[in-house]
Amino acid sequence: MDSTQLHVAIVSSPGIGHLIPVLVLGNRLATHHNIKITILTITTNSSSPEIEFLKKFNEKKTIQIIPVPSIDISHLIDSNTKLFTQLRILVREALPEIRSGIASMNHRLVALIVDIFGTQILPIAEEFNIPKYVFHPTNAWSLALFMYQQVLDQEIEGEYVDLKQPLEIPGCKALRPDDVMDSMMDRSDQQYHEYLKLALEYTCFDGILTNTWEELEEETIKALRSNEKLRSVSRCPIYPIGPLRRTVDITEHDEVIHWLDKQNQKSILYVSFGSGGTLSSEQIIELAWGLELSQHKFVWVVRPPSDNGTDSAYLNSNENDTGGSLEYLPKVFLTRTKDMGLVVPMWAQQVEILSHLSVGGFISHCGWNSTIESLTSGVPMIAWPLHAEQKMNSTMLTEELGVAIRPMILPTKKLVKREEIQEMVRILMHTKEEKSIRENVKKLKLSAENALSEGGSSYNTMCEFVKNIRTS
Ligand code: UDP
Repeated sequence: MDSTQLHVAIVSSPGIGHLIPVLVLGNRLATHHNIKITILTITTNSSSPEIEFLKKFNEKKTIQIIPVPSIDISHLIDSNTKLFTQLRILVREALPEIRSGIASMNHRLVALIVDIFGTQILPIAEEFNIPKYVFHPTNAWSLALFMYQQVLDQEIEGEYVDLKQPLEIPGCKALRPDDVMDSMMDRSDQQYHEYLKLALEYTCFDGILTNTWEELEEETIKALRSNEKLRSVSRCPIYPIGPLRRTVDITEHDEVIHWLDKQNQKSILYVSFGSGGTLSSEQIIELAWGLELSQHKFVWVVRPPSDNGTDSAYLNSNENDTGGSLEYLPKVFLTRTKDMGLVVPMWAQQVEILSHLSVGGFISHCGWNSTIESLTSGVPMIAWPLHAEQKMNSTMLTEELGVAIRPMILPTKKLVKREEIQEMVRILMHTKEEKSIRENVKKLKLSAENALSEGGSSYNTMCEFVKNIRTS
C-alpha cells in the first residue's frame, strides 16, 4: 500500500442482508477510488452463511476483512427479545473487539463507516477522532422516518398503528399506520426505545450514505437536504450512492442456472423471502397450492416454516439444518410440480437468478437488497412484505413506482389464500396490466444504470463523498 492511499474502515452488523451491501460499498470504494478498505464484520456464529459468503466474495482480496469473533448473547436475551433489540445487543457486546480492531490499524483512517445497526460505535470514532459516516442500506423514505422519529415520539401520543390518519413526515410521502415498521409498533417494548436511540445516534454522524438514487426518490432526497423541519433534526450531508448491488458471478456449476438456461424468456417466477424471512406452516401450504394452481413455472427458495414471527430465522442459522427434508410442503406438491418448477432449500444465487433472461417475475418480501436486485434486473414483483421497513418498500413499489402488485390485505395481517396467489401470478406473468408494470421497471433499470455510470447522480455523489473524506 502506498503511503498516500486513503484508508477507510467499515463495520457491518450481523445478518447477511447487512453484510452484502457493505461488501459492495467497500468493493466500489476500493476499485473505483483506490481506497484501502478494511471491513470489520460482526457475525452471530461460526457456521453462519456470512462466513461462506465472505470467503467467496473476496476471493480477489480487493478488501481486507477482519471478522469480529462471534458473540454469545444468550444470557442477555429471552424468548421475547425482538430481532431489532438482539442486533443492538450484539453490536454493543462487540464494541471492545471493534475498538481494539480500530486501535490496531496502523495506517491512519480518514473515515469510519458503520451500517444501520453500528451507530453505537460513535464514541469509538470520537475517541480516535475519525470522521464518521452511517451507511443506511435502504431507501431515503425510511431514512426520513428514522430522522424524524424523535419528533413523532414527542408529538404523537399512543401507538402509531392506532392512528386514524397517516403519519406526516415533512416534505415526504405520508406513512400509513399499517405500514409503520415493527420496531415502532409497541412503545412498551425494548425495541421501540432501542430504535429511538439508534435514530438519535444517526443524527450525530458527519454524513449519511444511502442505497438509493436521486431519480428514484427525488422529492424525499430534496426534503432530507432542505426541508427545515427535517433539517432541524440533523444537518448532516446526505449521499445517495445507490443502487449498490452485487455483480453477477456464474463461476461454478449451479443446478438452478442450468435449469433456467433451458426455459423460455421471462417465463419463470422466482419466489424468495430474503436471507431469513419465514412464513407460517399454513401460509407455506397456501403458497405451494397457489403456485401449483397458477400452472406457471417457478423457482422457489424455501425455508422451514415458523409460527413465531416472520424474522425468527435471521440470527438462528444452523449448519445442520439445510432445510432439505421439505416435509412441511403439501405431500404431493413436489411430485406434481416436478416439471413445473424447482424448489431450492434455504439459499440460492439470487442475483444470478434475477439477472437470468428466463426470469419474468419475483414474489419478494421487499427487503431493500432484493428490491434493488429486482429493479436493476428489470424484473417486476409481487410484493409480500414481512417485517422491518418492508411494508413501506411494498407501498413505494406498488403505489408510487408501479413496478409491483400485492395481496389485498397485508400478509402479516391475514393469510394469503391460494386463489389470490394464483390470480396475482396470472396478472404479473400474463395479462395487460403486467405490460405497464414491465414498462415501468424497464425505465427504472435504465435510470439505475444511468445513476451509477460516469457523470450520473450516484457516481457524482460518491466522488463528492470521496473528495470530502480526502480533505477532512
Ligand atoms: N439472498 C441470496 N439468496 C437467497 C436469499 C437471499 O442471495 O436465497 C441475498 C439477496 O440477493 C439479498 C440478500 O440476500 O442480497 C437479502 O437482503 P434483503 O435486504 O433483500 O433482505 P433481508 O434478508 O435482509 O431481509
